[in-house]
Amino acid sequence: MKKRILIAEDESIIRMDIKMMLEDNGYEVVGEAGDGDRAIELAYELRPDLILMDIKMPKLDGLKASRIIANQLDLPMLILTAYSQKEFIEKAQQDNILGYLVKPISETNLLPAIEIALHQAGKAKQLKEGVKNAEQQVEIRKLIERSKGILMQEEQLTEKEAFKKLRDISMSRRMTMESVATEILANQK
Ligand SMILES: [Mg+2]
Repeated sequence: MKKRILIAEDESIIRMDIKMMLEDNGYEVVGEAGDGDRAIELAYELRPDLILMDIKMPKLDGLKASRIIANQLDLPMLILTAYSQKEFIEKAQQDNILGYLVKPISETNLLPAIEIALHQAGKAKQLKEGVKNAEQQVEIRKLIERSKGILMQEEQLTEKEAFKKLRDISMSRRMTMESVATEILANQK
């Protein structure tokens, strides 16, 4: 699957240049924005894998736009900047900003930066999913514990017997232990 990239850059020549470099190297440019407002709109609409965001743009500048996108959408971004805008960079420290590219943009600085940013974004996503999974597992375990307690009480079972019963029901009815536990809790006397 091609990685989907959104370019937000007000200078159309630079934008076209970047687009060509990306497409030549196997990326898909899913959207182009010429100002910060449009960048936010397109970010919502397209949910790209990465946003290239120029700092100096009309209407909303790239920093404000990136802050809004970071808060609301959690999408990774690479900031495009001129050397003279270096002082802005310090202001722009956010988790979703995975790097800065100083203009002029060439394949030699663009491609490695994109590779690294996409790699980092992938790792961050995995980490978040891992945390979410772990939290879900804890919830499932709690659910099973509670339903086991109900079985023990209502049917005078030992913990081991209650667990076995849960497992037997889940196997014979081809349901997950989680669904069986949910059902038991719902039907609690
Ligand atoms: Mg600009």
